[in-house]
Amino acid sequence: MEQAREGPALKQELLSKHGDSQGERVSRGVDQVLALWRPTDGDAGEFIRAHFIADPNVLEATFQRLEATFEQLDGHFLEIGRELRRPTDLDLGPLLTVDPLLSGLDASAHLTEDLFQSKVAFEILLNFPLVSLEERLAHGRDYSRRQWAEVRLAGRFSRRIPPEVQQEAARAGADADLYIAQYNIWMHHLLAGGERLFPRGLRLISHWNLRDELKADYADPHGPEKQSQILRVMERIVTQTIPAEVIDNPRLDWDPVANSVAVAPPGEVEEGAPKREAKASDAPEPSTRYAKLLASFQAARKADPYSPIAPTAIARSFEGREIPEERVVSLLTEVLTSPVVPKVAELIEKRLGRKLQIQDLWYNGFQPRSKHPEKELDAITRKRYPNPESFAKDIPRILQKLGFEKSKADFVAARVVVDPARGAGHAMPAARRGDFPHLRTRIEKDGMNYKGYNVAVHELGHNVEQVFSLYEVDHTLLQGVPNNAFTEALAFVFQARDLELLGLDKPDAESDRFRVLNDFWQTWEIAGVALVDIAVWHWMYDHPDGTPAQLRDAVVQISKDHWNKFYEPVLGGRDTPLLGIYSHMIAYPLYLADYPLGHLIAFQIEEQVKKAGVLGPEFERMAKYGSVVPDLWMVNATGSPLSAGPLLRATENALSGKGEDARPTAPRKAKP
Ligand SMILES: [Zn+2]
Repeated sequence: MEQAREGPALKQELLSKHGDSQGERVSRGVDQVLALWRPTDGDAGEFIRAHFIADPNVLEATFQRLEATFEQLDGHFLEIGRELRRPTDLDLGPLLTVDPLLSGLDASAHLTEDLFQSKVAFEILLNFPLVSLEERLAHGRDYSRRQWAEVRLAGRFSRRIPPEVQQEAARAGADADLYIAQYNIWMHHLLAGGERLFPRGLRLISHWNLRDELKADYADPHGPEKQSQILRVMERIVTQTIPAEVIDNPRLDWDPVANSVAVAPPGEVEEGAPKREAKASDAPEPSTRYAKLLASFQAARKADPYSPIAPTAIARSFEGREIPEERVVSLLTEVLTSPVVPKVAELIEKRLGRKLQIQDLWYNGFQPRSKHPEKELDAITRKRYPNPESFAKDIPRILQKLGFEKSKADFVAARVVVDPARGAGHAMPAARRGDFPHLRTRIEKDGMNYKGYNVAVHELGHNVEQVFSLYEVDHTLLQGVPNNAFTEALAFVFQARDLELLGLDKPDAESDRFRVLNDFWQTWEIAGVALVDIAVWHWMYDHPDGTPAQLRDAVVQISKDHWNKFYEPVLGGRDTPLLGIYSHMIAYPLYLADYPLGHLIAFQIEEQVKKAGVLGPEFERMAKYGSVVPDLWMVNATGSPLSAGPLLRATENALSGKGEDARPTAPRKAKP
């Protein structure tokens, strides 16, 4: 209140000192400082008088100093975090009890508050503009690159969240992450009326590997039985009726239909299987899945009061994407309810020769890879990539095959570090020049299997983007891409070429049509999953005191409702809770919308690449544009803002056999 009175006088004082030409800067700067200044910070007036910069040369030098400083701060803190998580992220042997504690530590948790307390943040807020999402969306088109860099500089100080609140969120996140990373199902130990459908040693992490196995089973003579067993397992995970003891336990047999558990006969236990207690208990997992999610929610919620512009975790998630929630929901709903859905479904029915069923949510028959049994692909990738080093060595060849010049391929390959992952694999960026992005890939004892390879190619796409958007961007304050959806889109561009990179298929017109249909079906699938994720967070905000069991019931109900609304008309299976299976909902909350957005974006980018004729240089041109708002990035990349139109039109064309002409030729008709 003191400060509210102080503001006008301070502004007047600065104006008489520096002249009216500084009027707008003075007014904005003083307001920005006073909004986040606390009495414990000292005398605001004294600080403002001493630190307002009117001289353009000094302002320029200050900007440059800060840009260089933040590259070092962010880059080194990122490295520290990567090292703290090394034991839990990498497959380097059994975990020590201290490892999860280390991975939960966020060394930079205090950084923002330290920057406030040291007044660096206030110097920035006093001299550089803080711009709301609305302003960025409305006027960003007219900003210079330098102005965009200033927006990013001040933007990180739009909220002042206490370090202990951030620490708690980091701990909850790491805890959920580890819970998921160890959520394996030993498939040989699933019993179907006493029969074992899956091979020895097959250990699948939920949900990624379970879903991918279900997809691969279309090419298997025992596919239908296997798929139905996987669906039962998934449903039991979502509803938490899975017996707790069978999780990651190769010493127990489990019949997921009868839900009965028995000690596995010694002859069926894999050699070298991890030590586990063989306790034949069918006691259900006690809603642990939802306790982890609730812990993340409770931790995230504590930041709300310190974030006036985006006062919920949901709002912050969309503020971070720089696409408003309503726009995301409407893009996803446009896909889910598109008139092409029943047409694609009809085509799939024709190809399968039967009515569609629940598992066809993950129909895989448009994938060229279904022609090759998984075993054949496994044999190829295992032989080629026995260890992480062999994959690393092959990166220059992969990149040249994707159209990068040799020198560029070598430049990128020299900046990607390959590590063995404990979980399903991921890509980790770098944030300062001199440090390198890391590719984490899962390699089993007998080499990289096809699933691992497919993920590795995806992650490599991330890494290549990360190299360009750090090493070649004009302002390091603009490093990266607008948001995760763009990262994913660029990774999909690589992943879509995984078989070509093995030398297996030359894409012809038909496989191009199929690729479009496959993309569409996947987008349709995950769009609903993303809406469930968002709806679950709204439920938690509406029921802040909910228990894990109540959250479980809510997730099951929300999943059923979305299924019944969008999927049941096409696939049947009323009231299945299947949409709740994605591990992201637990370990990476509010991230899922980035996947369908990623597909839409990928589609726009693919078209551009086709137009340009070669992937490499186009990929580089797009990636090095850096982090501006999504629509502007997209205009630079492809000439038009983000839209579901290209995917839907291309799907329509693929259905009518015009796959090669997928490029949009007419403006999209507006949809309500
Ligand atoms: Zn990815």
